[in-house]
Amino acid sequence: MKISNKLKSVGLKVTPQRRVVYEVMQKICHGSIDEIIGIVRSQNPDITISTIYRIMDSFCQAGLLSKFVGNNGKVIYDITVKEHHHIFTSGEEIIDIEDEWLSEIIREHVLLKIPENEAIDRISVYISTKNKENGKEKIDIDKRSSDSG
Ligand SMILES: [Zn+2]
Repeated sequence: MKISNKLKSVGLKVTPQRRVVYEVMQKICHGSIDEIIGIVRSQNPDITISTIYRIMDSFCQAGLLSKFVGNNGKVIYDITVKEHHHIFTSGEEIIDIEDEWLSEIIREHVLLKIPENEAIDRISVYISTKNKENGKEKIDIDKRSSDSG
């Protein structure tokens, strides 16, 4: 769907600034507000930081973007709105996992733990990975420092 149609479909007025911000999100898929501001303003220095904040809020409210707290505690904006899961790599890459089966297993597994008057709204699994090579190196360094003293 064209960006202008996408914006219209959720009831947002099409502005050049909104177009630019959505285009950046389509390219990067996930990003913190600082990353998004950096990319948007590197191409369009005229768009102010407060405008970008307002646009991100309006996109989230309109259901055009979702957001979650990432591995480092920062809010990450996400172009994918429907329920999905994430892998966070040691290289700060974020990989989407769209796996309804995984969600379903978790849903069934935790069902009895959910208070009676509550229902599961959204399941989001975070998996963090570490670099195998760096992991080995770290162990070696730790060993050396404890050996020496
Ligand atoms: Zn995602």
